[in-house]
Amino acid sequence: MTTTHAVSGVESSPPPDSDTVIDVRDLRMRYRTQEVLKGVDFTARRGEVVVLLGPNGAGKTTTIEILEGFRMRSAGDVTVLGTDPARGDERWRARLGIVLQSWRDHGKWRVRELLAHLGAYYAPYSTAQVQRPWDIDELLAAVGLTEQADKRISTLSGGQRRRLDVAVGIVGRPELLFLDEPTTGLDPEARNEFHDLVRGLANESTTVLLTTHDLAEAEKLADRILILAGGRIVADGSAEELSRRISAEATVRWTRDGQPYEESTAEPTRFVRRLFEEYGDAIGGLEVRRASLEDTYLTMVRELEAGKVPGEQAAHAFGSREEAR
Ligand code: ADP
Repeated sequence: MTTTHAVSGVESSPPPDSDTVIDVRDLRMRYRTQEVLKGVDFTARRGEVVVLLGPNGAGKTTTIEILEGFRMRSAGDVTVLGTDPARGDERWRARLGIVLQSWRDHGKWRVRELLAHLGAYYAPYSTAQVQRPWDIDELLAAVGLTEQADKRISTLSGGQRRRLDVAVGIVGRPELLFLDEPTTGLDPEARNEFHDLVRGLANESTTVLLTTHDLAEAEKLADRILILAGGRIVADGSAEELSRRISAEATVRWTRDGQPYEESTAEPTRFVRRLFEEYGDAIGGLEVRRASLEDTYLTMVRELEAGKVPGEQAAHAFGSREEAR
């Protein structure tokens, strides 16, 4: 298993190989006097769903825009699909999918018309491995817009428009898809359908980099979660790994003869076994709980904001992926 964690300047990312889709090392970004990114390191591999979390203003959009080639970085090494985004050409761009919200302005266009029109742009970039663009009927089915194919965009519901945004983002069959807060404003059903769509794309080896404010969404979708705070990636791992790091202890709750009890323990399995050995059938309502991603995230951000744990030390507090093994 490769590792991607970097602890403030300590290089621990693996060397890129053919499955490395994003490779970011010591990325720095300064807007006038404000230093927003102070040495960001991470990688993403083919077919991975990576979720970038962080408080407002942490630099998530800045990071994504640099990777998309829309914004020049101040310093650092960045490779996306083998190319420096600052020098990406049209052929490189055709391999990326970017979900924007601007298609909502094309209200008079019909759904199928818009997708066919935009898809045609990708046709010259087909390769032996990847047929670009998607077949429009298949794409409509994949995003759940078959019934709306001939409707004008202005008549779509909010959820349907968001799905259209995604269809526009993936019409060229991107190898890497960027989604900046894609589910904001979606109702729970549309959100679930969207999650299925993202997982489906990842299963077909599309790499997805997504930002969200919804921790439940991050937990559900992410193969890996990166937390950006204080200008650095302060945590990198699966939701479960992050939760274990913030709280090595689990909380065990139970009742005995109708009385509630609670105990924190680093070894819940052993504790529960002893409990049953001692009290047997008198034990009821057993519950073992580890910190959720939300607990983890809020604890970390609160500590950073309170200045208790500067960025560098937060990374140590969470430990690297290597340390966890
Ligand atoms: P996030 O997406 O995590 O909310 P952003 O990348 O949008 O963070 O912004 C990070 C910081 O950089 C914010 O303080 C924001 O005000 C600042 N910033 C973003 N874009 C610009 C810009 N074009 N010029 C100056 N400052 C900017």
